[in-house]
This record gives sequence, structure tokens and C-alpha cells, in this order.
Amino acid sequence: MAVKQDSAVAAALASRQRYVARGVSTPRLAVARAEGAWIEDLDGRRFLDFAGGIACQNLGHGNAAVVTAIHEQVDAFMHQCFMVGSYEPYVETCRRLAELSPCGGGEQRSLLLNSGAEAVENAVKIARAATGRDGVVVFDQAFHGRTLLTLAMTANVKYKHGFGPFPSEVYRAPAPYPYRGVSTAEAIAGLRRLFATEIAPDEIACVVLEPVQGEGGFIPAGAEFVRALREICSEHGILYVDDEVQSGVGRTGTIWAIEQYDVEPDLLVAGKSLGGGLPLASVTGPAAIMDAPAPGGLGGTFGGNPVACAAACVVLDAVASGEFKEQARTLGDTLTEALDALAARRPEIGEHRGLGAMRALELELQSPALAGAVTAAAFERGLLLLSCGTYGNVLRLLPPLTIATDELERGLGLLEEALVDASR
Ligand code: PLP
Repeated sequence: MAVKQDSAVAAALASRQRYVARGVSTPRLAVARAEGAWIEDLDGRRFLDFAGGIACQNLGHGNAAVVTAIHEQVDAFMHQCFMVGSYEPYVETCRRLAELSPCGGGEQRSLLLNSGAEAVENAVKIARAATGRDGVVVFDQAFHGRTLLTLAMTANVKYKHGFGPFPSEVYRAPAPYPYRGVSTAEAIAGLRRLFATEIAPDEIACVVLEPVQGEGGFIPAGAEFVRALREICSEHGILYVDDEVQSGVGRTGTIWAIEQYDVEPDLLVAGKSLGGGLPLASVTGPAAIMDAPAPGGLGGTFGGNPVACAAACVVLDAVASGEFKEQARTLGDTLTEALDALAARRPEIGEHRGLGAMRALELELQSPALAGAVTAAAFERGLLLLSCGTYGNVLRLLPPLTIATDELERGLGLLEEALVDASR
């Protein structure tokens, strides 16, 4: 359905164009309200949401317990700055992160920030303070954020173009991408080549890896690679930073995707769904590493805002429950089966892949044209769908983990119809 010129949506999007910097890419959606797996626009049109505000709504929009906790915290106080006055929601969020931490090394501590990028930057600061080394190793297809350091770590010119020069001491190695011809063995060999050609391992503070690359195309790293990386890090005293900003908080069927690799990272970075829709991110790890920066070295005015933390406590309790994990696993299985079948039916799909309920379809064509046409056709049919991937040719599915079976079936039906529309 085309947006009518006299509609409230059209007026809202025109105002947006007038007042908002164009660098923030322009959507076609103008939101009035959202609930569960649904979004309603300003004209009263309803959309099934397979985007979740880019992976921030693992519990669905307006989860009742999250909303109640937010209201109660707003009534008590909304801001303190944790460096001015300590408050329980911050400490309670850190307590839960410690209990749920996949990191090794004993007693766990956390630092809370506003965004995934800020958390990744802080993980690098902590790793540098803990090791006394400068180097940061990242991987092809990586996305770690849009601040200058994290842009240096991100591997996509779409985000980087025109913003250099970038901070130094960031080195890139290949990551496994079997569908596009990069095997685990080649990726490991690439890392060893980097040690021989660009930076000696004893100058590297940390490697930063997404266990399932998110913006890069929902590419699971593969157990063999993750384990080899862990071994290489341990051998050379390099810290292993696990960036779970997109893959974490229950998305893959475990709280953190790394749990499925049987590997203990040194630092965990989380964000997105952690705050239940409010801005919150974290860095977690053992005290021996987390306490390396001196008092005053870490912090920020809003990091760990009490309202966001009140939401996070509810989110973490929910995703840690056996019932929720079961639900996420069932969703992952259902999606896997349905997408395997869809990939077999549709010739334009090159590969279906993912981990748990973090799933995607890579289109054979290495160009954003068809994926863009599919997301546009899905929108016309009432499904919000995002693309990703280095070449913008991957369709990613991020429905709430709480989505009802009939809603999921409807969304998958709309996805197939959109593929047919776009391929005509
Ligand atoms: N790390 C990963 C793996 C991400 O997917 C993202 C965002 O998509 C970030 C970091 C940056 O998070 P934010 O956009 O909250 O800064």
C-alpha cells in the first residue's frame, strides 16, 4: 500500500526530512505505537515487526513487567549519575551480569554505558589498561559501532566513507565466511599472517569478535574458529573480547551466543535488548581485568541510567529463565525449518544460516538491489524486515523471541510473498 500524500505518515516523514540531518538514513515508517510483535503507524496501519528496532526487542514491544519496572523507577528518580550517587538498579544490573557472565577468571564485575559502540570502546580501554599493550585485532565483516574508534574496527565503507582518518593500532584479519569461500583454516592462517606482517602478538591488547556477525550478514563464527582464537589469545596473553551487542540477551537460544561454543571469553560486551528498549550497554569480565583502570578512568554522565537499569534487571531475569530459553530455542528451530524450506523453494536465496533465532537469508546476487526490493515489498505487505551484510544482500530476521506461532507464520508468509514480488 503506497503512503498517501495527505496522510499523517507523509506529513511526519516530510517534517523529518526538513529537520533531521540526512546522514541518519530515512525510513518509510512513522510509528504511533507498538505492542508485542506489532507496530502501528500514524495512519493506523499495522506491521509485523521482524526488525525490533535492530535487535532491541527480544521480549517484544511493551513487555508488561519491563513497563511496570520503568514506571516505578521513573516515580522514584530518573537520573543521578552513578559517579555522583550510587543506586540499586545499577548495582543489581551488574550483579545479574556477573551471575550470567560467560567469562572466565573468577569474580565478575561490570561497567554500564549508553550504547554498544561506547561499550566496545570501553572494552578496548580496559584491555589496554590491563595488558599495557596497544593493538586491537578485528575481523572482516565486523560491525562494532559508529564512533571513531569503533568505525576503525567496523569493516564496511558504507559507514566509514568520508569520516577518516581513524584511530591507529586497529588491525584486521579474515573471518570465516564459508558461503563466500573463506574457510576456518584460511581465517586462522590470515590471523597468523597478520602476526608476521603487521603486529607481533605481544603488542596486541585484545581481539574483538562477534560470535555471530550481525551487520556483516548474520555469519556464525564456527566453533573451530572460536576455539582456535581462544587458544591463540591464551598463548600470547591477548584478551578475547566477545561482542554480543546483537547476538546476546537470549537471541540465539542461550543468554550469550558464546555459551554454545564452549569457550570462556575475557570480556563480554552487551547492549541492544539489554535495556528492553532503553539505551543501555555493558562490559563484563573478571575483577583482575575490569579493575585495571584506576578510579575515574571509566564512567560517563548517563551510563547505567537508573530507568534503563530497572528495565535491564527485568530483561535479564526473563532471559535467564528456563521457560524463556525453551521458547527462544523453539523459535530458533521453527525458523530454521521454515527458512530451510523457503531457501529450497526460492532460487534467488543463496544460503540460509544463523544461530538459534538469529537467522538470515543471503541472496545469491552480491548487490543490495534485490534485498532492498524485498524489504520494500515486505513493507508494502505489512512486514518490517531489515537487510544487512557487507554487500547489503542479506535479509535478517529478528522477530521478538516471544512471538506467537500464528504471528510468526504470518510473517514468514509475507516474507515469501515479498520475495516473489521483488523477483518478478
Ligand atoms: N557491536 C555490534 C555487534 C553491533 O551489532 C552494534 C550495533 O549494531 C554495535 C556494536 C554498536 O551498538 P550501538 O549502535 O548501540 O552503538
